[in-house]
Amino acid sequence: MMGFQAAPAQLFYDFSLDEHVPADHLLRRIDNHLDLDSVRVQLKPYYSSTGRPSIDPELMMRMLIIGYSMGIRSERRLCEEVHLNLAYRLFCRLGLDGKVPDHSSFSKNRHGRFRQSDILRHLFEMVVERCLTQGLVGAEGFAVDASLIAADANKQRSVSGAEWNAQEAKYNAGRSVKNIAPHIPVFDKSNRTDGTFSRADFVWDGETDRYICPAGKELVQFRRTYATPRSGITSEGTRLYRASKKDCDACDLKQRCCPNAVARKVPRDLNEDARDVARAIAGTPDYECSRHRRKKVEMLFAHLKRILRMARLRLRGPCGARDEFLLAATAQNLRRLAKLRPPRLPTAAMAV
Ligand code: SF4
Repeated sequence: MMGFQAAPAQLFYDFSLDEHVPADHLLRRIDNHLDLDSVRVQLKPYYSSTGRPSIDPELMMRMLIIGYSMGIRSERRLCEEVHLNLAYRLFCRLGLDGKVPDHSSFSKNRHGRFRQSDILRHLFEMVVERCLTQGLVGAEGFAVDASLIAADANKQRSVSGAEWNAQEAKYNAGRSVKNIAPHIPVFDKSNRTDGTFSRADFVWDGETDRYICPAGKELVQFRRTYATPRSGITSEGTRLYRASKKDCDACDLKQRCCPNAVARKVPRDLNEDARDVARAIAGTPDYECSRHRRKKVEMLFAHLKRILRMARLRLRGPCGARDEFLLAATAQNLRRLAKLRPPRLPTAAMAV
């Protein structure tokens, strides 16, 4: 017989949120590692001591954690989801009839006080500390990896080429990576397979800016002084070092060096010094170890971009990007904690 679901007409219900959300729900496990008391202390100077009570900052923080842990990118949708989802209500301590903030008040607080107080960094560091105490982070060293995430940027307002200071950008990039060993594979197309000398057969002399060939002759960029100085940089981002035609014509090794050219040319990448450092590290046991570990980091990036929908930033500007990265990293660390350090069930429950 076909069943029929009648709308229940009870006046009172006996309902417990706690009983309806599974004991092993991800948010319950995350909650076990969260202690947001210090958030309130840190934010206190940014709230007035008079006037109407604001939205509870802990509630907003919990909502943000839900958003970044569950891949809910829109604030409007986040507010709707928290309103409707029982597990989200339990995590936010809202009960069944607690009021969810309006999405516009939520945004205003988030981009105002939260940014001024640097509370998101505080939260991120708090979670990293928790990872340390739980034995998930050894703190013996750290590795940096990168992935491309599209910015929500307006191309019409980008910095024009004339205002771009390449030297300053290079200096800032250099400043942000102090004494970090680059464990990066070097793509090298300089090895020749036709039996002629490869670039590795030429010795680089950085002090005099020249290569020395197997016959002991020098390869330099310029053999005369130009009235208008030339950069010597090719469109491929290399410098060309040339042997003299006179040396090559008289050389016994010409057939093994440049049989089809009047003189040998050796290109050198503008970042060849950095590539040499990476090349030297590539053969070490540490490199092998980091090569295996890199796969795990890349899986995290893939998860972040595909499952948690961070392939494109939603907030604009450097501050928006910083907020998003801090929250995404916090959410990922909390998910790892929840997975690797689940809460212990009470003894009685375990016995059952
Ligand atoms: S051919 Fe020229 S570049 Fe090559 S080994 Fe001889 S002198 Fe050096």
